[in-house]
Amino acid sequence: MTPWSQSRRPASDPLAGLRAHVLQPLFGGVQARRARTFVPSVSRRLALPREASRRVHAESLRRLLLHARSSVPLYRERMVAAGFDPARMDDPAEIARLPVLTREDVAAQAAQLLSSRHAERSLVEARSGGTTSDPVPFMQPHAAIARKDAAAIVLRRNLGWHPGDRVAGLWGAVEDLPGRPQGVLRRLKAAAKQRIDDTLWLPAADLSDAKLDAFAAALRAFAPVALQAYPTAADLLARRILERHAPLDIPLVLLTAETVFPAQRERIAAAFGGDVHAFYGAREVGWIAGECPEESRLHVNTDGIHLEADADGRLLVTDLVNYAMPLIRYAVGDRGALAEGSCPCGDPRPVLQALHGRVNDVFILPSGRRVPGSICDVRNYQLVDGIVETQLIQDVVERLTVRWVAGPTFQPQHLDTLRTFLDETFDHELEYDFERAERIEPQPNGKTRYCICRVEEQA
Ligand SMILES: [Zn+2]
Repeated sequence: MTPWSQSRRPASDPLAGLRAHVLQPLFGGVQARRARTFVPSVSRRLALPREASRRVHAESLRRLLLHARSSVPLYRERMVAAGFDPARMDDPAEIARLPVLTREDVAAQAAQLLSSRHAERSLVEARSGGTTSDPVPFMQPHAAIARKDAAAIVLRRNLGWHPGDRVAGLWGAVEDLPGRPQGVLRRLKAAAKQRIDDTLWLPAADLSDAKLDAFAAALRAFAPVALQAYPTAADLLARRILERHAPLDIPLVLLTAETVFPAQRERIAAAFGGDVHAFYGAREVGWIAGECPEESRLHVNTDGIHLEADADGRLLVTDLVNYAMPLIRYAVGDRGALAEGSCPCGDPRPVLQALHGRVNDVFILPSGRRVPGSICDVRNYQLVDGIVETQLIQDVVERLTVRWVAGPTFQPQHLDTLRTFLDETFDHELEYDFERAERIEPQPNGKTRYCICRVEEQA
């Protein structure tokens, strides 16, 4: 497969260069300028050959750990208790001797996590997305954010999205959407910034048919080089576009924030007409892994992150960039698996082979067994032919509400297949209430939950 950046890059946007090299540097704001200063060094480190890449990565991990030991009370305590001295660490895998840092730890001991070398007032607070639990505040310096932005620029560029390109976002996180500015001057300034960034924002929280049609028309008129979207939102739009037999021509669709299933990927590629890639990130730590331009495997962003998967398959992230509130072995809330070797494309970075989705979407059976949502998500299996997607909601331990959406080939017996699948998955322990739905609606933040267990939340 030829990366589209070589084969399909449209020549029709002569302003991309002007935006990238003149307008954005001049008017893009302090933070964007700061990010650009980090691009060359981040780019260089991410292109290092295997041995050099490992050495630089191990060294930056050691530097962070030494800093944490000498200036962050919580880690000093944890390292002393574990008899762990970063200065004597031979292999990054040795950090498994330190305990996992949970969201609860961060919420309860935020002050103990701040480095004494950073003035708190100079830090920026980011709240991690609160889809499944209360948001937790994370502090970081401006420079750390700029370096993470630089990593995003480099990793997107590897997939064919270059600075200055016209892009669209089918996005829902309120924090990321440009708010409606107050006052004429501010609105003019925002309009000018919009011209400079040249981004079309399509809010993903309302995805009615009328909205989807309007989004398709807006994308056709705007003709972006890349579209960044939640997979479920992009898939809803793709299905609508395919129903209408009016595919678009967007060279790159970049999906994030949710697991991407093969059938979704195919529909999205067919509807938008370009390459489909995924990246995996978290608000607390930035870009964790980005998809290989050649295959659907995720390369770990070793410049910003040290990534582990524990015995339970929980992903643990160590943020190598944020020295103000270091996150070391932080359980980011997702499950996944790291591959043994590196990617066949020749990239030396570790490969995140599978991303199984949020940890929290786990059902609890009357027998006490726990079933992770990702294994009972019909989108993953394609075995229930006429049913496109389901939403499973467990309000009490014995029953499951099954909301389901019919596909074009739906026949009544497909519901029996679905029931059999669920019975096998849940060992015949649950009763079902089936409810037909037109679609599974996203939450106000634009993300969609397919598996919702409220049993533990009540307990
Ligand atoms: Zn690769």
